[in-house]
Amino acid sequence: MFSKILIANRGEIAVRIIRACKEMGIATVAVFSEADRDALHVSLADESVCIGPAQLKDSYLNVAAIISAAEVTGAGAIHPGYGLLSENAKFAALCEKCNIAFIGPPSGVIAKMGDKDMARQTMQASGVPVVPGGGMVDDFKQAEKEARRIGFPLLIKARSGGGGRGIRLVRSMEEFENAFHTASAEAKIAFGDGAVYLEKYLYPAKHVEMQLLCDNQGNAVVLGERECSVQRKHQKLLEESPSPGISQETRMKMGRFAVQAARAVGYVNAGTIEFLVDDSQNFYFMEMNTRLQVEHAVTEMVTGIDLVKWQIRIAAGLPLNFGQKDVSVGGHAIECRINAENPSLGFRPSSGKITLLHIPGGPWVRFDTALFQDYTVPPFYDSLIGKLIVHAQTREEAIRKMQAALCELVITGVDTNTDLQRKILAHPLFRSGRYHTDFMEKLEATKP
Ligand code: ADP
Ligand code: ADP
Ligand code: MG
Repeated sequence: MFSKILIANRGEIAVRIIRACKEMGIATVAVFSEADRDALHVSLADESVCIGPAQLKDSYLNVAAIISAAEVTGAGAIHPGYGLLSENAKFAALCEKCNIAFIGPPSGVIAKMGDKDMARQTMQASGVPVVPGGGMVDDFKQAEKEARRIGFPLLIKARSGGGGRGIRLVRSMEEFENAFHTASAEAKIAFGDGAVYLEKYLYPAKHVEMQLLCDNQGNAVVLGERECSVQRKHQKLLEESPSPGISQETRMKMGRFAVQAARAVGYVNAGTIEFLVDDSQNFYFMEMNTRLQVEHAVTEMVTGIDLVKWQIRIAAGLPLNFGQKDVSVGGHAIECRINAENPSLGFRPSSGKITLLHIPGGPWVRFDTALFQDYTVPPFYDSLIGKLIVHAQTREEAIRKMQAALCELVITGVDTNTDLQRKILAHPLFRSGRYHTDFMEKLEATKP
């Protein structure tokens, strides 16, 4: 087992990983930008290293500074968390080269699955149904031909997109030419890669994803699914497990495909396969996330399995000590993402000093955050400031528990989306469980 791990991330996920290390008796190294000197992850870690100025490219994406921080402190492994460098195959390869264990899959697997187009092809070849669409389109002529074949509405997707960015909905051929050029130009700016491909826009559909754990010995288990159809601009807002909209038969089938897909690419460590599911229970592979997911806690609550600890054990070469038949999904869990933003001002991001913080409590209520009283939320980073997660025996009970916890949560000093989360939970369509990825548009159209 590793004696020291460097956490190449910030915010709630860095804190989450440090906690797991502490429980495992592993020393921790935090890295931080100049804007994060007073951050919680820095105080909680055993050691910390400043890796540069506030801007992401100078600090949390500064590969050279992070690798040298690991070398200077003698950390044997790096946990990348989510976002940032977590799906960067070059970073993982550099860790491998420097003899530092990357807590995630091998760099070759990240390269294969992180490229959305290559992932589609790999999945198709291993017999997993994929969203109807095509390969990469290099120029407008080819794109136009593909668009006619696929039909409208369709999505133009950036090969290197992520976090809900790099996706554009096009409803007709008239809009297509303009949309194609802008999508490609925007992808070039956002991801340094202008390559795009086309996919049929599946509607109405649910986003349902399967959580996998695979060890180095070839064992793979699926830890149930998460329903993530409550989204705004293709970004998840609320997640729950089990999914209220899929049958047991669909669940089993999707699980088998997920394991089959993971085996086909030689997958190791925690990973997630995202599917779209239509009302006839047909499902289609959308993408694989080769990392820990923001909403992993939902799965932890229903399975009792600590995903971060298993990521660390697997990276250290330990085999899974349980099989598929030992995995049982019990009760119902819900997560609300708490973002520092103002929904009534076009979701404008908010930063500033936390003047009052009250965190809800009670049985089976979990709040993952890096906030503390008097902490100043810096303006440079992701707006996610906390994740409220609850677990109960039934979905109805979990909803009530979440409502009570949201009422109790007090964060003053920055704007948050907690009222919006309460509206989601109270909405009849959400209550019915029969909601799709367009739920937020429907909610916004509902008169109060
Ligand atoms: P999850 O799939 O775990 O729900 P998200 O899609 O919300 O995760 O993304 C997790 C985090 O990573 C977010 O902070 C998001 O902004 C960031 N992220 C993921 N991929 C990219 C990318 N390619 N470019 C920029 N940010 C990304
Ligand atoms: P990201 O890497 O940003 O997470 P995804 O490919 O996972 O991108 O797509 C993000 C979201 O966009 C999905 O959760 C889904 O709601 C929507 N989406 C993506 N592809 C399709 C599609 N072909 N049809 C309908 N919705 C889609
Ligand atoms: Mg996705």
